[in-house]
Amino acid sequence: MKILAVNAGSSSLKFQLLVMPEESVITSGIVERIGWDDAIITFKQNGQKITETFQILNHKFAVELVIQGLIKHGAIQSLDEIKGVGHRVVQGGEIFKTSVLITDEVVEQIRSLNDLAPLHNPANITGIEAFRKALPDVPQVAVFDTTFHQTMTEDAFLYAAPYEWYQKYHVRKYGFHGTSHQYVSERAAVLLNNPKAKVIVAHLGNGASICAVDGGKSVDTSMGLTPLEGIPMGTRSGNIDPAVLMLIAGKEDKTYGEVLDDLNKKSGYLGVSGFSNDSRDIIDGMNRGDYRATLAHKIQVKRIVDYIGSYYLYMGGLDAICFTAGIGENAPEIRRDVIKAMKPLGIELDVSENEKRGERMISTPDSKVKAFIIPTNEEVMIARECVRLTA
Ligand code: AMP
Repeated sequence: MKILAVNAGSSSLKFQLLVMPEESVITSGIVERIGWDDAIITFKQNGQKITETFQILNHKFAVELVIQGLIKHGAIQSLDEIKGVGHRVVQGGEIFKTSVLITDEVVEQIRSLNDLAPLHNPANITGIEAFRKALPDVPQVAVFDTTFHQTMTEDAFLYAAPYEWYQKYHVRKYGFHGTSHQYVSERAAVLLNNPKAKVIVAHLGNGASICAVDGGKSVDTSMGLTPLEGIPMGTRSGNIDPAVLMLIAGKEDKTYGEVLDDLNKKSGYLGVSGFSNDSRDIIDGMNRGDYRATLAHKIQVKRIVDYIGSYYLYMGGLDAICFTAGIGENAPEIRRDVIKAMKPLGIELDVSENEKRGERMISTPDSKVKAFIIPTNEEVMIARECVRLTA
């Protein structure tokens, strides 16, 4: 059974064709620069990378090219081999407690959440609509970044702000990266041979969040109403006193929206180092003694550890910390320094395992709390949900 997993952004569309239940990938790719004359479409198949440039002015045409490409490159012989399309949707609000089969009503419900995710949900809807038009007879499923966190209780998800903001405007913490946190924590429970394990997942990519998972359920997570809250990221500040908005708007003659943009796009690694949002550059900078790159790294580690300490107490214990996503999977320096700071919890790093890549335990065999690298796989989670709902 072939399932297409899709992640549509405002100017990009990532896709992966998987065979289920084997969970093997036939082809994957991305359309970039949608809306431009020189958009790029890339297919990766059988270890080969095929890149073409087209004028792709909208998602509808991007989807047509993806489907034509799947046939042209031999991933499928005919369209009826595709048995389901799974779409990543960023914000499911309190409406969606689980993934759903997409209907006209579901599309309208997702649209009703646009206020909560103005940068993401409209793009996700554009992708859904384009695929529904191109493949009208194929079941389509929405998989939300937020549903895994819908198990948080009020003490964890409510802000200590006027309660009416929650009642009237749904202001609360939703959390994101849910598919990744779920995939990694499920894998950790298998590696620990303990479905009741207390696990912390550190999803450290260009966007980054921490999640506390107790017995398979998300009990707290660092992102909030939007992905801006929590630990600092490539270009996002993470937690900051909201009074900064007013101060900087006044000093730099900016609107609150513009300052918010600075906190989303010019902060984090980029803001502190002054030269890059990429952890590889930050680590290079650290190694050559650059003061601000070193500071960006130290702030990052401190803030990650702040959450780990808090979640350790909130869960009343910890069995494992898991590192995932671009930085978590590839940057031994971050893992080393986070684990070093966790020493009081009884965790011991295996220095040589930490230098390696791929799924593995990176704590010593007698470490009380275990540490793992677990490469995330959001596409497989989307495909699994697609199979579950279309079978
Ligand atoms: P993601 O958002 O999960 O795709 O992660 C992207 C980020 O991972 C990049 O911006 C880099 O900061 C980081 N990254 C990717 N590869 C490496 C690497 N080999 N070493 C350190 N960091 C990496």
